[in-house]
Amino acid sequence: MTPMKSIIRRCGCGRYTMADRCPFCGSPVEPVIPPRFSPEDRYGEYRRRAKRERNGR
Ligand SMILES: [Zn+2]
Repeated sequence: MTPMKSIIRRCGCGRYTMADRCPFCGSPVEPVIPPRFSPEDRYGEYRRRAKRERNGR
């Protein structure tokens, strides 16, 4: 039951955590957002394609 969206955050110290603050150094963390990688988008495109093919026929 893991959501597709990543809730992993990265701290300035280079550690990854799911907490609001880094459990290692206590610093605030930033959410990790992959720049180009988006599985949801990919699925969306696939769906679009399938739909298009269906409509075409
Ligand atoms: Zn840290």
